[in-house]
Amino acid sequence: MTSKATTLKGQPLDRPVLDAMLRRRMFFTPAFEIYGGTAGLFDYGPPGCALQANIIDLWRKHFVLEEDMLEVDCTVLTPLEVLKTSGHVDKFADWMCKDPKNGDILRADHFVEDVLEARLNGDKEARGQKVDGEEPAADAKKKKRKQKTEAVKLDDAVVQEYGEVLAKIDNYNGEELGELIKKYDLRNPATGVQPSPPVSFNLMFQTSIGPSSNSPGYLRPETAQGQFLNFAKLLEFNQGQMPFASASIGKSYRNEISPRGGLLRVREFLMAEVEHYVDPKSGKQHPKFADIENIELDLLPRDVQLSGKTDLVRMTIGDAVRNKVVDNETLGYFLVRIFLFLQKLGVDQSKLRFRQHMANEMAHYATDCWDAELFTSSGWIECVGCADRSAYDLSVHKEKTGAPLIVRERLDEPIIEERWEVEIEKKKFGPHFKKDGKAVETALLATTQDQREALAKQLTETGNTELEIAGVGDGKVQITKDLVTIEFRKNVINTREYTPNVIEPSFGIGRILYSLIEHSYWTRASDGGDEARGVLSFPPEVAPTKVLIIPLSANKAFKPFIQKISQKLRKLGISSRVDDSSATIGKRYSRNDELGTPLGITIDFQTVQDSTITLRDRDSTKQVRADEDQIVAAVQSIVDGTKQWKDVEAELPAFEGQEVDVAVR
Ligand code: AMP
Repeated sequence: MTSKATTLKGQPLDRPVLDAMLRRRMFFTPAFEIYGGTAGLFDYGPPGCALQANIIDLWRKHFVLEEDMLEVDCTVLTPLEVLKTSGHVDKFADWMCKDPKNGDILRADHFVEDVLEARLNGDKEARGQKVDGEEPAADAKKKKRKQKTEAVKLDDAVVQEYGEVLAKIDNYNGEELGELIKKYDLRNPATGVQPSPPVSFNLMFQTSIGPSSNSPGYLRPETAQGQFLNFAKLLEFNQGQMPFASASIGKSYRNEISPRGGLLRVREFLMAEVEHYVDPKSGKQHPKFADIENIELDLLPRDVQLSGKTDLVRMTIGDAVRNKVVDNETLGYFLVRIFLFLQKLGVDQSKLRFRQHMANEMAHYATDCWDAELFTSSGWIECVGCADRSAYDLSVHKEKTGAPLIVRERLDEPIIEERWEVEIEKKKFGPHFKKDGKAVETALLATTQDQREALAKQLTETGNTELEIAGVGDGKVQITKDLVTIEFRKNVINTREYTPNVIEPSFGIGRILYSLIEHSYWTRASDGGDEARGVLSFPPEVAPTKVLIIPLSANKAFKPFIQKISQKLRKLGISSRVDDSSATIGKRYSRNDELGTPLGITIDFQTVQDSTITLRDRDSTKQVRADEDQIVAAVQSIVDGTKQWKDVEAELPAFEGQEVDVAVR
């Protein structure tokens, strides 16, 4: 497993160089930059937008289409009551502490992690060991928040203790984090002062809906609630069939205490979420589990982390579910579907793991949760969360509103139920017992079957019975047979009602997009130059632009060919860009290597004579030459995934022309 961020070709990844390239090519840029920028807010430029659109397109095909999900698009603005009921108003929070000297606001878990990591680095330095990107047992998740290290040697036992604390850093609550700060005397390096004890900080942005201030609301922190509130309508749309899933793609908002890592921790981000509704009585089996049960995943289970380790366990999802490492088939099924999606996108599989949440770390609604984490220059980053939310959300909303967020299922075999039933004669009962009516009714309805049998017998024999009820009258109440009927009845039950459980895969598109960029990035030496040039080897399906069209020069004779090829590609739905600038062909190609454009077409003087054009592969820089139709067909098959470059190279004649690195006029 990787311990240090590397490029696709195993070179050390130089984050500042990559950041500069992404800025230069306008993948994304800080929002409001000319006003000084606002932390945690970013705008996407043209290649960033195209990449994001392609990721979303693939997501829709992989989940919504392939799994017949019901997509909804719900509002961002959410009334307070909804998020109060869902638990977000009270519990959607992180722990925050304050430096009393300079007022620095620190996210408590990040602060503890940073200071301990800095001490461990200092210890390594004192021992003359190399300080690399990742700490021993630590996750090094937020490695970018580097602290100044002092070369101070620690006892071996202390090193081990720090390692163990770091391995389960996500499991501490506010009080425990406060204890760690005190126990290890952790101080803010900026001031040398210990921060205040952690307090809870709610991550939602509050607003008011409409002009009056008595309609408070929030920007949604997840798309899930909108999906839950529409459950009954979606079930009806699905003709009452279970199991089924809803899906949604949209922006969510979280007022992060300290945004960082570029797109990795931001305050506004695109989410793609699935809510899969399943009958809890089915053991959460999945009808398609057999299709994927032999696929292997790298897992980091809860108990491994709690033992202070981060070793991965590689096993098939079938074994993981059978051995109860993963709780149930549906959760396991989605872990594999997430894996296959990330694989299709082109993430580096040696930098992907599935980590189980520890008990304290889980969101308030979850009963089990696994994160798909990708390794980047900022350490392991949670890119997809996959939680078993049980019946939590549907139950609380049903309880609050009375809406039937349940499934009514017709039983194949009706259930015959024989039982003693109590029926209150409302018209007489209320006036008779007056203020005690409710208490007497509650006591009657709370009686057991045996008690009811005895009461019924007395009523039949004497017309009267006595019930002991604490706090009513002298503790005994007389009930006559005109006030209540107690009978042994036989009921035929044809339907079963239940609240479905929800398995939720939740994707942060910005995190996936950025991690994919790192996983696709590498550098190659330029022809004859020392300067290393960046390449983004995105799979053709997700690359922002598929084809670069380059005329050899500004010569007018090339214009009709440019137009014809652009049009042909446009008709096929293949995105292309023309670069007819005066830069050298080599420069123009390397500009597009930085943009991740997989294919390049060159039009030269031979094209004018015989209509042949060259096609260049971004990754190998190899070229083939053939007539226009053959090249366009080759482009189409590479873009739609039916062929790879090696197939095209085997079919079409190679072109040995150099990538000319001189300006051609
Ligand atoms: P959660 O509901 O916290 O499990 O988040 C679901 C997904 O949203 C995570 O797996 C991340 O990919 C993404 N996410 C959460 N918070 C942020 C953030 N502040 N910035 C970017 N992505 C985020």
